[in-house]
Amino acid sequence: MNKNRRLCLVLGDQLSFDLASLTELDSQRDVVLLVEVREEARHVPHHPKKIVLIFSAMRHFARALQQQGICVHYVSFDDPLNTGSVPGELVRLQSQLQFEEVHLTECGDWRLEQSLKKCGLAIQWHTDTRFLCSRDEFSSWAKDKKQLRMEFFYREMRRKSGLLMNTNGSPVGGSWNFDTDNRKALPKSAVAPYPARFSADAITQDVIALVRDQFANHYGSVDVFDYPVTHADAQSLWGYFLDFGLAAFGDYQDAMACNEPFLFHARISAALNIGLLNVRQLCSDVESAYLTGRIKLNAAEGFIRQLIGWREYVHGVYWLKMPDYAGGNVFGNSRPLPEFYWTGKTQMNCMRQAIGQSLEYAYAHHIQRLMVTGNFALLAGIVPDELCEWYLAIYMDAFDWVELPNTLGMVMHADGGYLGSKPYCASGQYINRMSDYCRSCVYKVRESTTDDACPFNALYWHFIMRHSEILRGNHRMGMTYKNLDRLPESKRQALWLRGQMLLAKLDAGESL
Ligand code: FAD
Ligand code: SF4
Repeated sequence: MNKNRRLCLVLGDQLSFDLASLTELDSQRDVVLLVEVREEARHVPHHPKKIVLIFSAMRHFARALQQQGICVHYVSFDDPLNTGSVPGELVRLQSQLQFEEVHLTECGDWRLEQSLKKCGLAIQWHTDTRFLCSRDEFSSWAKDKKQLRMEFFYREMRRKSGLLMNTNGSPVGGSWNFDTDNRKALPKSAVAPYPARFSADAITQDVIALVRDQFANHYGSVDVFDYPVTHADAQSLWGYFLDFGLAAFGDYQDAMACNEPFLFHARISAALNIGLLNVRQLCSDVESAYLTGRIKLNAAEGFIRQLIGWREYVHGVYWLKMPDYAGGNVFGNSRPLPEFYWTGKTQMNCMRQAIGQSLEYAYAHHIQRLMVTGNFALLAGIVPDELCEWYLAIYMDAFDWVELPNTLGMVMHADGGYLGSKPYCASGQYINRMSDYCRSCVYKVRESTTDDACPFNALYWHFIMRHSEILRGNHRMGMTYKNLDRLPESKRQALWLRGQMLLAKLDAGESL
């Protein structure tokens, strides 16, 4: 047994009792350190709800550790001695508390991990075992591959975990992926479950007051805070989804509807990303729900794919490719992020709905992020950096390892197609098919060149035309370019001109 006294730093997204750096903790001798710091809360203007979630969950986690007899040193945001940065606090407390060893689990942010590596202390690093696939394992899988494909990585993860696998090594149901069953629009009769809500206790109320006072200039509302901040409440949120959301998740995971921010989505990403939920348990619960006949295979497979496919995949890509990945801008975009991303003041109903609910709940589901706010930024040629900052700031579940590959890679295709084989660009027709947004929009989704035409339509063709050199050779874009070539020259010109006019409006700082 190691006799050295340990200082175990736990970061705000590492609130798991089985965290690797906490497993050999000696409660008689070692100390766990948690710090609320200015640099992490302010390096982008995080949504106030996100700051409440993290600080409150940290305070609850500290209390739970203390109740287990573990000695915890907690530095609150307003502590006058607080240096304002994680490395600053680590150095200050290591010399004050005189520890022989400092232990830390891998970070979720390259920037923070680098600053800790340079802080002058010999840190003993632990692998983040909360992921199914470690950084090293992903890098071995990716070795010698020019382009990565999530689907193949996902199959490896299915084999590794044994989830939805037959004993002979084949996937249950005879197919790895049932995505084609998961693209239904919402029927008028569908009723989404009322979202589970959790009341704010005294600890959370204190944090809300602190955040109101200190972060008043950050975008987003903190008026209602009803998200779980403890492991027990996160489990209840998950149980609620298993009972009321999961069965319809597969069918309607791509659907969108006015004033329906959550539909059949789980809302668990923030709790999962900060460590209140465990990915292996979630997947095993979903598999059991299928095996006991409570849900269909497309729902189970679709959900498990998000967790052990997409989530693990973007984690792997981030750590494989950072820091160069963050600089990707393959289309050479230079247009700043329009102001209406921060206010929701736009006449485009789909954007107003997606941005409005993001400001209110710090939440939007995947298709809103990908095909509405993301799609618009892609078509409009927004600087990837500025869009990434917006996603990182506005969503409660946003941490660099997961936000960056999703935004820069999946949405903006700024990595040149390393993460996804083609850009997810679409005209207003897609949004119309998957939502009821267009019915109450001032723009006409079936028009593309008139003054009242849906901006997505002309911007879509403008994007296809202006990046023809890069995209025409992509075999997955073949049909799109065939369709472009089939248009009469006069139509192509009219689309180009309307696209130019819309972009000029953005350049003049006007909303659309
Ligand atoms: P559900 O729709 O119920 O899905 C279940 C779970 O699958 C999610 O909780 C999440 O853990 C996982 N998942 C699904 N897709 C992805 C994905 N592409 N990457 C990682 N995990 C995934 N997710 C984040 O957790 N943090 C982010 O910062 C984030 N940024 C995104 C930015 C963009 C531009 C896009 C297109 C997607 C982003 N996602 C991010 C993925 C996804 O949108 C959210 O995980 C999801 O909307 C969270 O809501 P939910 O818990 O209701 O998820
Ligand atoms: Fe969005 Fe266009 Fe539909 Fe309006 S018409 S909601 S801008 S897709």
